[in-house]
This record gives sequence, structure tokens and C-alpha cells, in this order.
Amino acid sequence: MLEQKINELFGDNDPTGFGTGWWSGVLSAFFGLLAFGAVVCLHFPALLSSPELRPYYSMYVIRLLIQAVIVGAIIFGVVSAMLRRKKTLALTGMVFALGATLLGGASVPINDSLREGPAIGLDWFLLDMLLMTLIFSPIEVLWPAYPKQSVFRVEWLTDIVYFLSTHLPIQLTSFLILLPATQLSAFLGIPGVIAAVGRLPWLVQFFLAVLVADLAQYAIHRSFHMVPFMWRFHAIHHSSKALDWIAGSRAHIVEDVVVRGFILVPMMLVFPMNINVAYLFFVTLHATWTHCNFGPTIKWLEPFLILPRFHHWHHTSQAEAIDRNFAIHFPWIDRIFGTYYFPEDNKWPDTYGLANEYIPRGFWAQTFYPFIRRQAA
Ligand SMILES: [Zn+2]
Ligand SMILES: [Zn+2]
Repeated sequence: MLEQKINELFGDNDPTGFGTGWWSGVLSAFFGLLAFGAVVCLHFPALLSSPELRPYYSMYVIRLLIQAVIVGAIIFGVVSAMLRRKKTLALTGMVFALGATLLGGASVPINDSLREGPAIGLDWFLLDMLLMTLIFSPIEVLWPAYPKQSVFRVEWLTDIVYFLSTHLPIQLTSFLILLPATQLSAFLGIPGVIAAVGRLPWLVQFFLAVLVADLAQYAIHRSFHMVPFMWRFHAIHHSSKALDWIAGSRAHIVEDVVVRGFILVPMMLVFPMNINVAYLFFVTLHATWTHCNFGPTIKWLEPFLILPRFHHWHHTSQAEAIDRNFAIHFPWIDRIFGTYYFPEDNKWPDTYGLANEYIPRGFWAQTFYPFIRRQAA
């Protein structure tokens, strides 16, 4: 297995706390890979950059960012190499940073003539990976619910491939996600209702949108658990044996499309486009956050808004919480429908994943799994 080889190559048995050179090594390797990928994008922008994003790029800022990431990879690499016995992470980061520099670094001119049309969204993958890591990794490192869990926990590579799979085919994903939210709104919307909703204060509109979305999400999510044919697809999301922000990416493409369609269509009927787009941003951040290995809680907020511990119970393999906590934003929706499970004393699950079902490992095996699975006995 590739993941095992990578873990053996980079991992060791030394402590991984601050000051051990572990985090600086991980950061060096991560920044090095980002920098290298970004410089490759500068060389082949027509092929590797997303036409959807190009209009929004400030090349000045992007070039500064690439420069910063190269410098970061080298500085963290030096720090890690000094602190840690095993130098593979540091060396990897520095080699990729050096490679990025030799390929021209941040100042590679854009020579391709850019046009619309199919492209591989490597830029979008790298940018979103950086953004999500900056948002969610610090809180997982500083305040984990499971301090012993490593970034290189079991099947981490599979989940990166899932993240990759929703970012590289940018045309496909923007077609499936943004198009319905924007263009289709014009056809589906009920103008009178949208106009009326649009006159409400923005916060009220947004709250209503999250409510409508979560009710729709609850219905389709519960169906994915109850209907055996649908469960085959959703079982993939539940196959993670440990949760962190990237584990939230693990979902079968069929589930992704069905869930988004099911949520967005009712929203498009009644909410203005800007609210639907705002919701898409919100759900990305909130749903990702609820998968985080993040321990702290805000007691008074728990009954109103879903915090990570609530969704973690949805992912447990412990009998007491199976088929509980279907909502993704508002826990009281589960209370209303009688599917609420949230033990006191800030208790977290002991085990995750599926107790009675074998799910193959790896992205492709899991993608084919629902179609070729033999009928359960
Ligand atoms: Zn579920
Ligand atoms: Zn989940």
C-alpha cells in the first residue's frame, strides 16, 4: 500500500509535540509540494488553471503567495532538520522548494493564451488545500479531541484523493454545484416568493436558508441510512475510522450529487441567488468543521448549533448512536424527529467506522463498491 510506504518513509517513533521538529517537517513538505504544484501551474496555465477562477486572480498576490510558500518550505525545512533525527520530511520540503525555484519560482511569465474550455483544476486544489489547512489544521493541532491521532492517521491518503477528486475536474464540479445555485435559480425560482424573501433582513434570509437546507439534508441523509441501496453509497462516508477535517471529504460522488441537488433545488425555489451562494460557503465551512478533531465546546451553543462532538457521534460504530444525529447544522432538528443522541459530560465516541460491514480501502475500490457489492445476506 502506498500510504503505508509513505508513512514508513516519513514517520518515526520520536515524539511529535512542539519543538520536536515534527510539525516544522510536515509544514516544510506540505509547503514544498504546494510551491512546486503552483509553479507547474504557472508553466501550463491553459491546462492546469481553472477558467472559473482566473478572472478573480490577482497575479501579484498569487506570486507573493508562491514566494511565501517557497520561503516557508525552506525555513521550516531547516528548523526540522536541526531538531529531528529523521530528516526525510525536511529534505522533501526543501527539495520541492528548490525544484520550484529552479523551474522559475514565482516569476514564471504566463505565456499560454488562456481560453475557456476544459482544464484540470490543479490551481483550485492547491489553493483550497492551503486555505482549508490554514483554517482547520491549527485548531486540530492546538485543541484536539483525540491528542494521539496523527495527521497521518489511517487512510489519510484516501481522503486526500477524495479532496483531489472534487477539485481537479473543476468543470464537472462547478457544473454540478455552482450552476444549479446560480443559473438554474433563474428558471426554478418562484419570482413572487423570492422577491418577498429578498425583502427580509439579510440575517433572517440566511437563517431560513440554513433551516430549509438542513431540513432537506435531514430527509435525504436519513434516507441514505434507511434505504439499503442508498446506504451502499453513504457507507463510504461512514467508513472513516478516525475523523479530522479531511475525513469530511470522503463521500461517494453519487451521494455528493444527490445530496446537493436535493438541498439546492428547494432553496432555488424560494431564496435569492446571493443567499444560495452564501449558503454554499457556509455549508462547506460548517460541515468540514464538524468533522474536525477539535475538542473544545461552547456549552450554551450546543443545543442550537452543531459542534464537532455532535457529528462525531453520527460517525461512531457504537450501538447506542447508530442512525442518530442526521442534521448537519441544527441539532434540534434531530430532537424534533426523535433521532437525537448527545451524551453529557463532554463524552466522545471510542470507536468510529462501521461495525458490521467491510468497505474496501482506496478511492477507486470505494467508488465501484456500491455497484458491484453482492447482495447482503
Ligand atoms: Zn450518515
Ligand atoms: Zn460526516
